[in-house]
Amino acid sequence: MKYVDEYRDGELARTLAAAIAAEARPERDYHFMEFCGGHTHAISRYGLEDLLPANVHMIHGPGCPVCVLPVARIDAAVELARRPEVTLCTYADLMRVPASRGMSLMKAKAEGADIRMVYSTLDALRVAEAEPGREVVFFAIGFETTTPPTALALRFAEERGLNNFSIFCNHVLTPPAARAILESPESGVRLEGFVGPAHVSTVIGAGAFRQLAREFKQPVVVAGFEPLDVMQAILMLVEQVNAGRHEVENQYIRAVTEEGNAKAKAAVAHYFELRERFEWRGLGFLPDSALRLRPEFAHFDAETRFGVETKEAKDNPACECGDILRGVKKPRDCKLFGTLCTPDAPMGSCMVSSEGACAAYWTYGRFREKTRKQEAAA
Ligand code: SF4
Repeated sequence: MKYVDEYRDGELARTLAAAIAAEARPERDYHFMEFCGGHTHAISRYGLEDLLPANVHMIHGPGCPVCVLPVARIDAAVELARRPEVTLCTYADLMRVPASRGMSLMKAKAEGADIRMVYSTLDALRVAEAEPGREVVFFAIGFETTTPPTALALRFAEERGLNNFSIFCNHVLTPPAARAILESPESGVRLEGFVGPAHVSTVIGAGAFRQLAREFKQPVVVAGFEPLDVMQAILMLVEQVNAGRHEVENQYIRAVTEEGNAKAKAAVAHYFELRERFEWRGLGFLPDSALRLRPEFAHFDAETRFGVETKEAKDNPACECGDILRGVKKPRDCKLFGTLCTPDAPMGSCMVSSEGACAAYWTYGRFREKTRKQEAAA
């Protein structure tokens, strides 16, 4: 398939691996965080860590939109869905994220709440059009990639005069999360660079990371999600570190520009404004890190319309998702990984979403350690 197969070429991957090995200086280590769950998924699926020299370490970041949503917001969605007049439309992943007191949207649905799984914002609009007697709420989550479709749904709702459609807004922003990780020395995470997000950067542009790179002296290489994209980005990062540079480079030039998508950014700016603070799983409350509807669109805001309260809620204390999302731990550091916590029975959000680090390790890496040990023994 064009634009896919050529980025999965094994021979080229081995050539890039050799170039990284030649460039990486043996007397030092390199620690790079891939921000996106999509990159974590690619690294696990294609076994990229096995191609890297032992002194090049990949640290998984918080870029999985389902994973970073805190328990309190899932609880609020459950409460919303239990209102008799409400139909809550949500992406399937969110259904299984554990909420407080053993609850989840899936369990709320089983108890009778009207919760529908949708594939897009437009599906939610169709529900609102087809059922004018219901209050249809779209559970809007995600980074800068998924905010423009929510903005478009709002525009369509305005154009079609849909008075029974609103959104429960949980859209979050990438640069403040990267900043929080860099500003948090107590986490002890050592970083020498970021593999910058792919889809997010198609919207906000590679330029959105220049301030971070300058301020924290961190190289950033925006990279696509195919294995050769990631390998090339790692090579570019190693080269920057060796040269003492800390620039934003764009590996994903087939999709990402410096400025991003002006139309998408304008649509988002029309409907949304910054929230002063928003809670992230693992990162806590971060200033200016999320969006809410502008006051003039309050009629589309489910939080205003239904008086939604977000009450304090705690993560399952046995779940290490918070540390994993900050890059402090890896999935295998969690005692529940693969035993009490699996994709069929997830104990935390990182095992639910396919972009979550725990799900990626489970799907592609749960036999790897065993195989390595067997090979070492043989
Ligand atoms: S394995 Fe499960 S319980 Fe452990 S950190 Fe991952 S999601 Fe949480």
